[in-house]
Amino acid sequence: MTQTIEQREKTAGPQARVDTWLADFEGALAARDVERAAAMFATDCYWRDLVSFTWNLKTLEGRDAVAAMLRATLDEIDPSGFRTSEEPSEGGGVTEAWIEFDTAVGRGRGQLRLKEEGAWTLLTTLYELKGHEEPRGKGRPRGAEHGANRERETWSEKRVREAAELGYAAQPYALVVGGGQGGIALGARLRQLGVPTIIIDKRGRPGDQWRSRYTSLCLHDPVWYDHLPYLKFPENWPVFAPKDKIADWLESYTKIMELNYWTNTEATSARWDEGTREWTVEVERDGQPLVLRPKQLILATGMAGKPNVPAFPGMDRFRGEQHHSSAHPGPDAYAGKKVVVVGSNNSAFDICGALWEKGADVTMVQRSSSHIVKSDSLMDIGLGALYSEEAVASGMTTEKADMVFASLPYRIMHEFQIPLYDQMRERDKDFYDRLEAAGFDHDWGDDGSGLFMKYLRRGSGYYIDVGAAELVANGDVRLVGGQVKELTADSVVLQDGTTLPADLVVYATGYGSMNGWAADLISQEVADRVGKVWGLGSATTKDPGPWEGEQRNMWKPTQQESLWFHGGNLHQSRHYSLYLALQLKARFEGIPTPVYGLQEVHHLS
Ligand SMILES: Cc1cc2nc3c(=O)[nH]c(=O)nc-3n(C[C@H](O)[C@H](O)[C@H](O)COP(=O)(O)OP(=O)(O)OC[C@H]3O[C@@H](n4cnc5c(N)ncnc54)[C@H](O)[C@@H]3O)c2cc1C
Repeated sequence: MTQTIEQREKTAGPQARVDTWLADFEGALAARDVERAAAMFATDCYWRDLVSFTWNLKTLEGRDAVAAMLRATLDEIDPSGFRTSEEPSEGGGVTEAWIEFDTAVGRGRGQLRLKEEGAWTLLTTLYELKGHEEPRGKGRPRGAEHGANRERETWSEKRVREAAELGYAAQPYALVVGGGQGGIALGARLRQLGVPTIIIDKRGRPGDQWRSRYTSLCLHDPVWYDHLPYLKFPENWPVFAPKDKIADWLESYTKIMELNYWTNTEATSARWDEGTREWTVEVERDGQPLVLRPKQLILATGMAGKPNVPAFPGMDRFRGEQHHSSAHPGPDAYAGKKVVVVGSNNSAFDICGALWEKGADVTMVQRSSSHIVKSDSLMDIGLGALYSEEAVASGMTTEKADMVFASLPYRIMHEFQIPLYDQMRERDKDFYDRLEAAGFDHDWGDDGSGLFMKYLRRGSGYYIDVGAAELVANGDVRLVGGQVKELTADSVVLQDGTTLPADLVVYATGYGSMNGWAADLISQEVADRVGKVWGLGSATTKDPGPWEGEQRNMWKPTQQESLWFHGGNLHQSRHYSLYLALQLKARFEGIPTPVYGLQEVHHLS
């Protein structure tokens, strides 16, 4: 007697269940039977595609969205060869499988979560283009050229020639403006893919982005989360790297990865030419003007690069020192001084802590609520399963951890985060009680989903506590809530009349949207066409709706042809640089890249 698909799946183990689903799915796709393929998903379903089907970063929610995407893309993508890459697992009514597949032009990897009703989540990602694989493993370059050759050019001669020609005799295909960790990671991938690329940065040395920040800064994210592509930190690298150490690593990395990295080079303007389909970018290299004509322009100019400096009445008559947190030199000059720090997030806390250690008299002005988690709790509860020594010992690789992270659709991610933050709240209850007793206005995010969702939604509003919160809780750093009304010659005055005498005022007031870089460099019109950068459209504080499903404008095509945004924390720079690099490589090779579902623009900045 023949069984229905449902009967077969019910009686089978996880491997057979997944094999059956994949075979049936592939059959439906091969037959271009979109309705049948979509019906294999659960009613509540999410298909997140990173470049493999959509040439976009796109999450499809619900069967109708799946069907619409397949209808538009199947003929071109022609997917096949769906298979598991390791034995699936089962738990809590969900069968989980790591999968691989092929498309007409590339090879993909992904993850499938099956529920009784059908696929609940599907992640599909492109990891290489056929015929354009990276030269690694068995395909690694030979290096030496054995034999006798009077025309021999050594490796270093080639590098010197390339450096002399690129940007002068030959134009780069891609120009990456901004050589922080984002520009560097993308540049490394493009190098491996053979895409002629120049990375420019106005600063003097790679890593200066970190060197120039306040002296006490160490990374807030742990080492397992921070690896760059291709070259992992060694096993004795500190868990939280001091900022100058990470700067030196970035500088070394640009050399080891043979990047064409131009220091002391500032992009001053950029213009897209519809006729030639290329950018005209004016740069100043070591003070000399030069025009570059890349086909692709990538802004990797940083989420934390455009300081938000407030304009309070009286700033001009204040006789002490005042600066934005990005210009704060560190605490050494301020022992015994009265310092007012405006703001209550990461930079504010780090700066207050370091100033207190040096013996300054520090007051923090809290203007709106903030979210704080203790670093240890965040590491143990929030990141430990994927990014920790224990995770490594259990066989978790960085690449796999990145894919697990990517497999959770943004729409439901907060549901997984809320219980983690509930645990942290419980674990550190005494600390939160003391903090609130000290008058700190603490929040857990609009829906209790904590730090990571705040980061994805608005990129601000939190502090990962490495010690300074305790100083606020116990009163060593004075806390005052309220809005700044004005500055006098020697104080900061709040709306309620509170007067805070000050020798130094630090504005730890955050950073502006990356969209502003496009306005500065290209034009307001292009910046408006592209719209807001970052955020999910979650309709929570500072992340207005409508729902976008992916981070706005990051790592994917924008409304301005050949203009891209890249960046984020080290994890995002590492993982998403792959998808951006593949999109650029495909265009470089002339592989068709029909973009499905180019995002609409709802907000300008
Ligand atoms: C105090 C502080 C602590 C942080 N801690 C962490 C952490 O622990 N972990 C983490 O992952 N992130 C952290 N971040 C976030 C951090 O900013 C980013 O992760 C990181 O710097 C982003 O790298 P990026 O390459 O995207 O941008 P950036 O590092 O900001 O680099 C952008 C570069 O663009 C260059 N540039 C801008 N305009 C031009 C132009 N017109 N021409 C040429 N060059 C230009 C700038 O000189 C700069 O070097 C922290 C940020 C701050 C402010």
